[in-house]
Parts: sequence; structure tokens; C-alpha cells
Amino acid sequence: MAYIDKAKIEEILSKVDIVDVISSYLPLTKVGKNYKCVCPFHDDHSPSMSISQTKQMFKCFVCGEGGNALKFVQQYENISFQKAVQKVAELAGVKIDININDKAAIYSESDYRKFQIINDVKEFAFNNLFSEQGKNALNYLVETRRLNLETIKDYEIGYIHSTEQLMNFLTVKGYSLDEITESSIMTREGRTFLYNRVSFPVHNPEGKCVGFSSRLLSGEGPKYINSTESVVFQKNKILFNYHIARKEVYQKKELILVEGQLNVLSLKQNGIKNVVAQMGTALTQEHISLLKNMKVPIKIMYDADNAGIQAAKKTYSILKENKIQC
Ligand SMILES: [Zn+2]
Repeated sequence: MAYIDKAKIEEILSKVDIVDVISSYLPLTKVGKNYKCVCPFHDDHSPSMSISQTKQMFKCFVCGEGGNALKFVQQYENISFQKAVQKVAELAGVKIDININDKAAIYSESDYRKFQIINDVKEFAFNNLFSEQGKNALNYLVETRRLNLETIKDYEIGYIHSTEQLMNFLTVKGYSLDEITESSIMTREGRTFLYNRVSFPVHNPEGKCVGFSSRLLSGEGPKYINSTESVVFQKNKILFNYHIARKEVYQKKELILVEGQLNVLSLKQNGIKNVVAQMGTALTQEHISLLKNMKVPIKIMYDADNAGIQAAKKTYSILKENKIQC
């Protein structure tokens, strides 16, 4: 078992705010000096959990569950203490070196640079969408896909019209060609899968932007292209919108599973946010544990065409096999 220094734990706790940590899982309401939410640790119908920012503690007045930010993450995610420390450390931006089994979840220094590149590209593409060159793409989103500006902004949808400009932007930012290619944004030859397509930022379950899914505007070519698989982008562990949906499921008491990103966005525009999408892959074991973690019944809402119906039947039986209520 890994040993984590007590001072390190204190350092981590000093750098996070319990309110930020819990609000990344659940919607909080401010009541006087404290915050309240529906307790996720018992079948709560009124907000029984209180979070004190001054004490950096949470406490449920019904089931008695309570503690600091680490305790919350550990209990909520049902993970080991080490893993909880790791997750909270990541939120706090504190580097820790612990040796636990789930190596894939430990990011190195260069992985953090990749996250930075991806974030910078996200901002660049988003700004580009609203420039003169982005007019057609913006038009496509608004007119053809019926997305409103609020949704486009909330989901930071973007557009890249010039690979040269993207390369210049990243070079000026100080990224090396190796870093740019390793983050799977561009190839050495200067090609990018984002070129002339609308790009949807994709987040991991913790809410970190890890890559993109790009959609063809018109003409020939694959409809969707995702970032290539890497340490930071692992499609089998990602459900689109998971980080947002998980804040909603406690109130809605169910999770809706849809096929694609655009389904998520159009439901969002109708006020339905407890939705996640597979990104063109069959459900993996990792997806299933993510769905299980939500601890609510799943509603499958696929396209009503023949392929959608067949896929829905398959998903239904997979969920049933895994004892997920649906
Ligand atoms: Zn409780």
C-alpha cells in the first residue's frame, strides 16, 4: 500500500476549497455562510447536507456522514483513500508521487503540457468560430443544427479554418513540434483533424478537457473524427457530458444515455442536462462503471431508425447483464 505523507495531504487540502470539490459533483445552494445540497449518501429528498467553507467540512444531519474534501471524494466515488488523494491533488494542482495500481490515471509532467495545449486549442478554435472566417461554421451550428449561442458558448464549440494559423498560434505559445504532435492536435506534416470541421471539446469524468470530436460541415469524409488515443484521451473511459450530467442526476433521479454529442446539446437546450453520450463506440467496461457510479436508473434514448433500435436493444441487455436498472 502506498504511503502518503501527512504534510502532503495537508498541502493538498490547503489548496482546494471543499465548495469547489463538492460542487463539481453536486449542485450547491448558498444558505447564509454555508452551502447545502441533497445528501448523496442516503436517500435524501430535502437538502440535508451542509458544507462549511470556513471549516472546510461537510456534514449530513440525517445519516451523519461528514468529513473533509478527501473524505467526500472517497465516499462519493467509492474509491480508495490513495485514489481520492490523487484526484483531489489533481484539482489542487499539487504534484504527488504515489504508486498505485491504476497507473493510467497518473499524469506526468508532459501530460500536463498536453492538457495545456488542448485547452489553448479549445480557446483558439472557439474564438475562431466567432471570427469572419468562422461564419459558415457558426451558420451551420445555428441554422442546420439548431443550436443557440448559449449552448455553443457553454460547450465551447470551435472551428479551425487555417492549419497554418493554428501552428503559428501554438508555436508563439511556446509549444515544440514534438509536444504539438504528441498531443494529437497536428501531424508533423501540419495536418489537423480539426481543419474545416466544427470541434466539440471532450472532457474526462473529472471535467478536464482531454481532446476533441470534430464534425464534418459538408461534403465528403467521415462524419466524426476524434482525437487519437493517448494517455490523456481514452475513448473507452469517456462519456460525453459526464462531468455535467453527474451534477444533475441527483435531482432528476435518472440518467439518459444517447448516441452522439449533438443529441446531448439539443436535450440541453430543452433544459435536460442529465444526459451522456457514447462517442461512436460500443459500451466498454469502463463506461459501465461510470454509469454504475451515478447510482441512478439509465434511460436509453437512441435514434428511432433501425440501426438505433438494434443498438438500443444491445445496450439494454448489456446494462441488464451488469445489473444496472434501465
Ligand atoms: Zn445523508
